[in-house]
Order: sequence, then structure tokens, then C-alpha cells
Amino acid sequence: MKVLITGGAGFIGSHLAERLVERGDEVVALDDLSSGSAENVAHLEAHPGFALVIGSAADASVVETLVERCDTVIHLAAAVGVRLILERPVYAIENNLFATAVVLDAAAKARKAGDTKLVLIASTSEVYGKGSSPPFREDDDLTLGPTRNSRWAYACSKAMDEWLGLAYYREHGVPTIIARFFNTVGPRQTGRYGMVLPNFTQQALDGDPITVFGTGDQSRCFCHVRDVVEAVVRLIATPRAVGEVFNIGSDREISMRGLAELVRDTVSSRSPIKLVPYDEAYADGFEDMLRRVPDTSKLERYIAFRPMTTLEEIVADVIADRRGRMSMGDAEDQFTPSIPPLPARS
Ligand code: UDP
Repeated sequence: MKVLITGGAGFIGSHLAERLVERGDEVVALDDLSSGSAENVAHLEAHPGFALVIGSAADASVVETLVERCDTVIHLAAAVGVRLILERPVYAIENNLFATAVVLDAAAKARKAGDTKLVLIASTSEVYGKGSSPPFREDDDLTLGPTRNSRWAYACSKAMDEWLGLAYYREHGVPTIIARFFNTVGPRQTGRYGMVLPNFTQQALDGDPITVFGTGDQSRCFCHVRDVVEAVVRLIATPRAVGEVFNIGSDREISMRGLAELVRDTVSSRSPIKLVPYDEAYADGFEDMLRRVPDTSKLERYIAFRPMTTLEEIVADVIADRRGRMSMGDAEDQFTPSIPPLPARS
């Protein structure tokens, strides 16, 4: 296969690129290096089946050229991470909406010219919003909060991406699959944008207090990026997945307090666990989700997928990766997103 991965130098994108290149596919990673990095794919650069193009997925001229040369597009490029969304809402909203529109339009043009491309659009469990009765099923209602809270703008932009993908399928025949990723973790994930597991890990390794926001009773389900990549690879090989929406994640639930304890104990760290009120952790008016658990039965039905990596293995893997990076002198930096401007719209 010839695969274009937008966001291919990001955390999930780089793992996916690795997997596809290893099995013999040709992969082009398009990335603006805003939250991804060239180091994530440095080990692939020498591979003849891999190329990194630095550019924006919202840049129609670049995307059209790259889409023409591939048969499958995996659209991962997006502004992600609660902190980034709260601090750069204009960038997050515009980037998420424009880039998806550009990718789908390029696929529609190719199809009109008789060359059909399969498109997988990455979405997020954020779209379930404040839904209060998990496990969430793909057909559940989406319950978003008010527009004055930027967090919901991210959920809403990704929900619009889903609608747009399904609309391009129905109206223009572009075969599109929607993948709603739940909390995905693993080696290479940065804590810079607020994600909890890399933060807890770094704090435990440094012997700093582990900062649990709110009461710590809120829960999440964490899935290893290797398992998420496996689900994506199976989905793009499943013709009846076209036009459908899938949750991808693990259904093993853990509270943030429980996660902090697990990380601390696995590191054998003396870090205290510190509860930080939400209004100190985030901008005013922040709303958290209490529980976020996927119903993964649809994914099981379509691709016989179950995550293989236990939470204990995931935490050990993330700690080992972070230790390795620290021994190479890589200090995890603070939240300093280097966001390139969006290309002009025509
Ligand atoms: N969280 C925390 N400490 C941190 C970072 C995050 O307690 O240093 C909490 C956060 O408030 C949320 C959970 O961990 O309840 C997961 O946060 P993350 O940003 O990783 O993902 P999401 O909220 O999108 O599920």
C-alpha cells in the first residue's frame, strides 16, 4: 500500500508509520512539527519506504499532490491535548476543521478523476463530552458543554470532522472510516500538552509531587499505542468498515488517584501524591469528564480486536522509555507549543 499519514511525525503517527513501513508499505508522513517532531521518525528516515514532508495538512496544494500519489490516507493531524486546546483555541479549532476539509476535498477530487482513495479520519472520545453513562457506544448522543468553555470547541471540531467525513462518503462516494481514539499512551508521548501519564511518569522519576487534578476520583481507560495501531491497520483492511464510526481503546478503567499510585509504585518513587484543584490546574471554567469508558463491542465485531497490553505493562513501558530518554539528556520541557501559522486559504 501507499499510505499518506497526516500527523505522521506525531506520537500515534510515528508508531503507525513504523508498523506500515516494517510490513513493506510506502509511507509519506506529512507533519507541520507543531506538536510532532522529526526525532519521532528519525529512525525511519533511512528507510526507502518512508518519507517525511514538513508542511500543514491544511495546505491544499501540498495535500492534493500527496493524496494523488497514495491509495490510503490516514488523517491524524490535529491540535490535541487539553492544555493546547485551552491556551490556543483559535489554532485548535481552525486547524482541526480546515485540515480535515482539505484532506477530504483532495480525496473527492481524486475520486472524480477515477482514482478512489480510502480515508481514515482520527476522532476522539472527547466527542462524547459530558455523557454521564459510560460505556459509550458509537451511536450515543453527544453531550457538549457551553461555547464559552474552549474544551468543548475541541470536541465540537472533531465531531464536525466526523460529520464531514461521513458526508463526503454519502455525497461524493469517498470511502471514509471514523476512528474515535480513547486515551492512547506509550513511548514517545510528550507531557507538554497536559497528558496525564507522561506527566505522572516524569514527576515520579524526578521525585516531584505527582499532581492529581480535582479529587482524583475521575477515571480513564488507557490503551497502548501499539494496540491502537493494530486496530487502525485492521480497520483499513476491512471494506465493511467504510462509512462507519468506531471506538478504539481499552475498557480497563482506573481513577487518576489509582494511576498516580501505580506509577509511583512501579517507579519505586517517594513522590507524594498532591491533589491540585482544577482552577489551579487549568483556566477558569474548566470542566472535566468524570468517567470515560468505551464500549468496544463494535470494534470486536468488525475486526476481532482486543487490546493485548495490560495497564501494568503500559506503565512499565512508558517509564522505561522516559528513563531511556532521560539518560540521553532529554529533559521533558514545559508547555511551549511552537505553532506555525496556517497556510492562507484560497
Ligand atoms: N490529569 C491529572 N494530572 C495531570 C494531568 C492530567 O490529574 O498532571 C487528569 C485530568 O484532569 C483528567 C485526566 O488526568 O482528569 C486525563 O487527562 P488527559 O489530559 O491525559 O486526557 P483527557 O482529559 O483528554 O482524557
